[in-house]
Amino acid sequence: MSNTHTSVLIIGGGPIGLALAGDLGWRGINCTLIEKGDGTVGQPKMDMIGIRSMEFCRRWGIVDQVESAGYNRDYPQDCAWVTTLNGYEFGRECFPPMSQEKPPIHSPQKRERCPQNFFDPVLQRFVRSSSSVSLAYNTDLLEFEDQEGGVEAHVRDILTGETRVLRADYLVGCDGGASKVRQQLGIEMVGDAVLTYTTNIIFRCQDLEQLHDKKPGYRFIFIGSEGTWATLVAINGRDQWRFSLIGDGQKRTLTEEEVRASIIRAVGKPFDFEILSILPWVRRQLVARHYRKGRVFIAGDAAHLTSPTGGFGMNTGLLDVVNLSWKLAAMVEGWGGAHLLESYEAEQLPVAVRNVGEATENLRRMLSPRIAELNPSMFDSEDSGAEAARIEYGQRYTEMMRREWFSIGVHLGYVYEGSPIVVLDGTPRPPLETSSYTPTARPGSRAPHAWIGEGRSTLDLFGKGFVLLRFGANPPPANILKDAAASVKMPLQIIDLQGEEVEKLYARRLVLVRPDGQVAWRADALPEDVSTLVDTVRGAIPSEPQEYSFQAVIAEV
Ligand SMILES: Cc1cc2nc3c(=O)[nH]c(=O)nc-3n(C[C@H](O)[C@H](O)[C@H](O)COP(=O)(O)OP(=O)(O)OC[C@H]3O[C@@H](n4cnc5c(N)ncnc54)[C@H](O)[C@@H]3O)c2cc1C
Repeated sequence: MSNTHTSVLIIGGGPIGLALAGDLGWRGINCTLIEKGDGTVGQPKMDMIGIRSMEFCRRWGIVDQVESAGYNRDYPQDCAWVTTLNGYEFGRECFPPMSQEKPPIHSPQKRERCPQNFFDPVLQRFVRSSSSVSLAYNTDLLEFEDQEGGVEAHVRDILTGETRVLRADYLVGCDGGASKVRQQLGIEMVGDAVLTYTTNIIFRCQDLEQLHDKKPGYRFIFIGSEGTWATLVAINGRDQWRFSLIGDGQKRTLTEEEVRASIIRAVGKPFDFEILSILPWVRRQLVARHYRKGRVFIAGDAAHLTSPTGGFGMNTGLLDVVNLSWKLAAMVEGWGGAHLLESYEAEQLPVAVRNVGEATENLRRMLSPRIAELNPSMFDSEDSGAEAARIEYGQRYTEMMRREWFSIGVHLGYVYEGSPIVVLDGTPRPPLETSSYTPTARPGSRAPHAWIGEGRSTLDLFGKGFVLLRFGANPPPANILKDAAASVKMPLQIIDLQGEEVEKLYARRLVLVRPDGQVAWRADALPEDVSTLVDTVRGAIPSEPQEYSFQAVIAEV
């Protein structure tokens, strides 16, 4: 940290801060990331990298590293609901091991199982591969000041106690749920601060599969006569397991003895295991009322907190930083318009509201036996009607849980409706989907995937600047758009594509795709006033002052 000035100062080196630093570095933007920890992950939280996030990893060239990061990719990914591992199995959703899962037709990638203790090091290497990024561990943000023309941050080296001042054009708080940045900005979180108290225990047990008669699985949900009370996750697909003891709205501190007894109850017989860590935490459904004040932004858990049910937390945070990164780069490089940064909150906040709500609904479904009338005979091996009751209950539970397991629409179908830098084309907004996804190149949507050559996706065309796709044998002329973009130094590449599938998918002869891979505009011909188009998508035109209502966002999604 020899430089005291940087373009973007990032606070927090969890997956979101690292991804932002990596993406900015990939764009050649000078930035500094400070993290108060030493870079090691104590207890991994996230373990599922969603399909859109994997598309970003593809863009960054780190897919191979994610795949080889350490998770046992031959381990089956089934989810099953049982009384205990040695008791009854109510039902199961079967998923192949990662090594056998194929990408869906809508993407060149598939989701990946890669817990945070494996993913963070991949991101750290990605960050370190950029010479424009400085990464400082053991460095704590004390306070900051948003001044005219820049931000001044006071930071402390935790190892030496030395304090210093860092200056930046922009500051982004990726400092997690208890975000000091958000607190100093005075931004309120809206929603439900306590869904459940839960205790996560990582334990080691070689060959846990040999202790029971159930087929192996990534996740087991334990249902007792009191309802759903715990889950078990194969955290590395080998010898480490994450047991989550789901509490209620009351805070309780569990002793190691209680934790051990619960794990043995779940397995259904005594066995030897080593507890590696115990982490009590609170499940929340919260979204920040704002994502920005002046030159300071928040992203990831600093901006939204969600129940892990569905695996949306980090994946939503990655959307935040991919959305924000190119906009910050545009400002630093000088081609971003004066209103470009306003679009970050307008685009990403509604996505978070939707995703945290979906996660809470998943939690509600998973816990629903608590409130549903459980038939006590299901747990009684002597009762003659027990088997039929279990089958009936199991089928219902299996059906109900599908929405959590199949959520491609949440990962790919988000849309920046109402964004000031997206030019809508008059087509109606398609309904939001959860378990299905209908690709569309309607402005505001993720530009869809189609194969355009051996192993090459349309998605591989997007990333660094704007791309104008021209379709058909005689595509419409577009040089005046290129000239208009060049006149304000907005990077724009023109790429011609032909092919029945891709032309049908994009549905217009001209489609303008942003650096984050979202469609900004489409039509069959350029508008007469191309300068206004360029100025709109680069945020140079003041948007209508919106009566921005958080409640309206919540009501809409
Ligand atoms: C049990 C569980 C399972 C989950 N599973 C999934 C999943 O499968 N998929 C998914 O997408 N999400 C999942 N999540 C959510 C996911 O883990 C989080 O959304 C994600 O970790 C958020 O990343 P972040 O970088 O925003 O915050 P964090 O990971 O909390 O990182 C914030 C960082 O900021 C640092 N920091 C804080 N204050 C300062 C300061 N003053 N100065 C310097 N540094 C500071 C902290 O040390 C920390 O390293 C899960 C969460 C839990 C609890």
